[in-house]
Amino acid sequence: MKKDKYRQARERMVEQQLRTRGISDERVLQVMRSVPRHLFVDPDLRYAAYSDAPLPIPQQQTISQPYIVALMTELLELKGGERVLEVGTGSGYQAAVLAHIAGKVYTLERIHELVVQAEKTLSKLGLDNVEVFEVDGTLGLPEHAPYEAIIVTAAAPHVPEPLKQQLGEGGRLVLPVGSRMGQMLERWRRTGDDFSHERLAPVAFVPLVGDHGWKDDERRTAWWI
Ligand code: SAM
Repeated sequence: MKKDKYRQARERMVEQQLRTRGISDERVLQVMRSVPRHLFVDPDLRYAAYSDAPLPIPQQQTISQPYIVALMTELLELKGGERVLEVGTGSGYQAAVLAHIAGKVYTLERIHELVVQAEKTLSKLGLDNVEVFEVDGTLGLPEHAPYEAIIVTAAAPHVPEPLKQQLGEGGRLVLPVGSRMGQMLERWRRTGDDFSHERLAPVAFVPLVGDHGWKDDERRTAWWI
């Protein structure tokens, strides 16, 4: 088998960036230790793949900081086997992390170039329980609903109603909600027709653009998660 020269860097990332900041779900830590983040970025950026930062991917988008990926995954409270919806495939890294824990991951991306690249990377890794769809993710994916967990990895001005409706009983929806400049990470929970939510941490994501998001992707800051 080919030697993985990034193994130690991943191990350091888990111990120094994740565990020390309070990520404690061993399943999440184990997955972050094993998913090769360097394969989701441009070869010129591989040296920085395990640094404590978001990195640029094509089309002015980003692969989120490892800590944020781990935190959002932990907040979904996955036990294994769930059907999960992700809005904002980007590089496919978050989808790969989810696919190691959940039963099936449906991930939605609006930019064609990113869909093609993410599909390639995910299939190279043999992750056949992830499906990528080129659609406006603010509408969700009603044909496969309900989902036990939904994660949105772009900044929403408000919680998209279709996503709430596609959440199953007891389901969790984790997403950044706020302005284009900064948001709070929120977790919504469904109990029957009722929804409760918690506001958990300040974050800064690229905008969620679509029918139930921002209407255009005009940018007002230089650096995003
Ligand atoms: N989860 C990604 C990863 O692991 O690389 C990072 C996602 S990046 C921060 C946000 C992504 O959301 C971008 O790729 C952007 O094109 C996508 N996006 C924005 N609005 C969207 C929408 N309405 N539907 C689907 N994807 C959307």
